[in-house]
Amino acid sequence: MMTRRDAIKTVALTAGALAAAPHFVYGAAADSSASSSAYPFKLPELGYSYDALEPYIDAQTMQIHHDKHNGAYVENLNKALAQAPESVQKLTLEELLLGLDKLPENIRTAVRNNGGGQYNHSFFWKILKKNEGGQPSGDLAKAIDQSFGGYPAFQAKFSEAAMKVFGSGWAWLVTDGKKLAITSTPNQDTSIAKPNDKETPIVGIDVWEHAYYLKYQNRRADYVKAFWNVINWDYAAEQYAAASKS
Ligand code: MN
Repeated sequence: MMTRRDAIKTVALTAGALAAAPHFVYGAAADSSASSSAYPFKLPELGYSYDALEPYIDAQTMQIHHDKHNGAYVENLNKALAQAPESVQKLTLEELLLGLDKLPENIRTAVRNNGGGQYNHSFFWKILKKNEGGQPSGDLAKAIDQSFGGYPAFQAKFSEAAMKVFGSGWAWLVTDGKKLAITSTPNQDTSIAKPNDKETPIVGIDVWEHAYYLKYQNRRADYVKAFWNVINWDYAAEQYAAASKS
């Protein structure tokens, strides 16, 4: 139970954070609530401590990445939507991203970049968890074996996709509800928006330099190698199961 003193502290912190920097307000958990939430958007919770992924991803990178980079996407997405008609403000994040071509032209690029950033990062925080060398199991493991000829072959193909992203972007393991595929998107484009259309992310790696430069500098290959130790396979399996049902 929350004591009265805790409650006062929470209120004071929240009020202060609201006034000073909207992106320090912690919203509900990411995943489904991120795609179904609407304006004004909130920074998704990290859900674990900044150092939870050490030594593979360092605490300082996680703090700056979550608070500042994701924070800026949220702030800029809200800024863009503040000038949009109410009918657009009511759209969920997923509706905004699936209907980019229908948005007013003056906010389209801002929503694509910052809404995409909010969507991708909400997913990314959930897909990260130290796994102590763990691998997928159950239906997802079977599907990976069938699609790629085993886990090592899958790792090689996914790593190659991550290395091949030129500049900033993401590599993905996605499903269209039937089969698995490895894809990539530039900048903050999502796997659900056109032209990929409705490909649900199962695993995703952020290969923007801000995701690894403090620890790995220019060595993206080392970061991609380390990534295998911080994939939350339980969450990946949940995503796969949900997408396979629908
Ligand atoms: Mn990022």
